[in-house]
Amino acid sequence: MRPPILFPLFAEVTSLKGVGPRMAPLVQKVAGPLVRDLLFLAPTGVVVRRPMTAADAVEGEYGIFEVTADRLFTPGRPGAPLKVRTSDATGFVHLVWFGGSPQHVDRLLPRGEPRIVSGKVERFNGEVQIPHPDVATLDKAGEIPAAEPTYPGTQGLTSRQVRRLIGAALSTAPDLSEWQDSAWMQARRWPGWRTALDAVHAPTGEADLSPDAPARQRLAFDELFAHQLALARRRRARLIHPAPVIAPGGASRRMEAGLPFTLTGAQAQAVAEIRRDLSSGQQMGRLLQGDVGSGKTAVAALALADVASSGFQGALMAPTEILARQHHQRLAPMFSDAGVTAVLLTGRDTAGERRERLAALASGEAQIAIGTHALFQDAVRFDRLALAVIDEQHRFGVNERQRLQAKGDPRLGAVHLLTMSATPIPRTLELTQYGELEVSRLTEKPPGRTPVTTAVLPLARIGEVAKRLKAAVETGAQAYWICPLVAESEATDLAAAEARAADLRRILKVEVGLAHGQMPGVQREAVMADFADGRLPLLVATTVVEVGVDVPNASIMVIEHADRFGLAQLHQLRGRVGRGVKASSCILLYGGHDGALGETAKERLETLRRSEDGFEIAEEDFRLRGGGDPLGLRQSGFPAYRFADPVRHRSLMMAAADDARLVLARDPDLTSERGRAIQVLEELFDWKGHKTGSD
Ligand code: ADP
Ligand code: MG
Repeated sequence: MRPPILFPLFAEVTSLKGVGPRMAPLVQKVAGPLVRDLLFLAPTGVVVRRPMTAADAVEGEYGIFEVTADRLFTPGRPGAPLKVRTSDATGFVHLVWFGGSPQHVDRLLPRGEPRIVSGKVERFNGEVQIPHPDVATLDKAGEIPAAEPTYPGTQGLTSRQVRRLIGAALSTAPDLSEWQDSAWMQARRWPGWRTALDAVHAPTGEADLSPDAPARQRLAFDELFAHQLALARRRRARLIHPAPVIAPGGASRRMEAGLPFTLTGAQAQAVAEIRRDLSSGQQMGRLLQGDVGSGKTAVAALALADVASSGFQGALMAPTEILARQHHQRLAPMFSDAGVTAVLLTGRDTAGERRERLAALASGEAQIAIGTHALFQDAVRFDRLALAVIDEQHRFGVNERQRLQAKGDPRLGAVHLLTMSATPIPRTLELTQYGELEVSRLTEKPPGRTPVTTAVLPLARIGEVAKRLKAAVETGAQAYWICPLVAESEATDLAAAEARAADLRRILKVEVGLAHGQMPGVQREAVMADFADGRLPLLVATTVVEVGVDVPNASIMVIEHADRFGLAQLHQLRGRVGRGVKASSCILLYGGHDGALGETAKERLETLRRSEDGFEIAEEDFRLRGGGDPLGLRQSGFPAYRFADPVRHRSLMMAAADDARLVLARDPDLTSERGRAIQVLEELFDWKGHKTGSD
């Protein structure tokens, strides 16, 4: 419930003097419907005025002059400007109005009387000129402030009007009890909330607009903290769902012993984190993040084995038939050796197979189901489903995930959830997108992986690349050739990919497969399968190359127009190679035949050449794209923050997340003194209904 102290801030903007029915929609457009929204509208600029004389006036800057009006030039013809010549001891200052009334101007600047005038200095025919100046009498000089914030305006609402309304809003803003930790505040020398608001709206120079200015940092931290609290609350809400207690048993041990490798440190840690969740008696919600090839499947398989050991059932859902089959092919024998039965469910099972497998799941005779979307169809029934694992989680809708989870028996408790993603994302994005999930990261690659050598070349050298490709294919290598889907029309792109496939067929004199998003899924998967089985040496594809498909023999990846892809996507694509024993390479072809490439684009591709660490690449990509690109940030999954900048306030966001968790762990109902203040903060920002990436 909203505390009364916040009522003035949650009043409609029409409660402010001067905001009538005509102005209200304009204010709403610029700031929002509430007085609070005006307070939270940070200035985007600042006008700094300094005292000047006619002789030392600096063009382009804002000056304050003390002058005396000399003569008034009324326009000779309609449309010509109205001018007043004024002077100080050093020379003339011409004031100009376009479309002003002579009477009004005459009244503002009576001849022979001193006035303070201010505005942006221009030069016109060598004369100092100020268009549309502010004018004040000497005793009211204070009405022309030395610095004035500017705000986004709109048609019919000027920056000045917005500023005035914000002034009115500020005067209604109450002092609120401090919700931030006092030691933290002192260490940063941040002002209190109310003081910070005043400061943000009274910048004295550009430095005050910086995201690093103390007042801005403070408000940004408030905002991030409130957001993270909302996410932390959702995480806690999940934890109150009782769920089956899962503990590793004989099958887990046999499964682990049966793995053809030992777990990496990162895998072992992820398994430990999952086991801690699964054995807690509360519903797990965990995201397993790890680059392509980081070994997520083994982690998931062990969790599933634990579930089977504990007498429950688990499901592993993959987005494509080929992936589901691959998982089943690899895992079923290991499960079987561990005494666990795993069945495969896809859309292409024969009626007989399907009936049999459904029966095995319904009776509990099969403990593990591996499959595609077929898994959450109505006909699928489990006896005791306790864990849903979602591979390549971004390929599934929330509803699809929930439909699978809903197959649990409520009497046993909620179904644990493990989602997996091969797209490493920056920490900050992880916090906003998946803040209500726990996250395990596989930051380490399994040993024995062949590093991929990456080259960045202009498209003009495509002939050379084709020649080297030919030599490699002749020695039995397999290669991917990726054509981007970027043109205005998919048809053109497709034609480009088809033409490329034909070129390569002709030059290399080998069979070339083509896979793209426009072909029927079944046909596409058939081509991919041919490539996976080594029947095709070369696969030309648009970006539909299935995430997660493992073709260890493929050792070359050529990406055309690499500059048109996102870094994460390039990294993902590159992850298709370097999976076997062969030395692997990735060739990034950029630009048209002129070979021109911008600085940032170069830096981006260079990052990729230098690093094979998906987490590092994600952070770097984010940094390069970030700042000054709020739209890009929003598209990448950040909410529309008012004060916070996910790039510049990165470390604040991390601190806010830690603090939010800590606060709720210590004081879940927020009843302490600080807790009660925090409740006010939560109301103030109101993040509760905000959606996240995993909604
Ligand atoms: P992804 O994270 O992309 O799903 P996978 O689970 O498919 O990765 O693993 C990629 C390959 O690495 C598989 O062939 C798997 O057998 C192998 N692998 C996984 N973990 C290890 C490990 N600890 N040591 C060696 N090889 C491993
Ligand atoms: Mg995988």
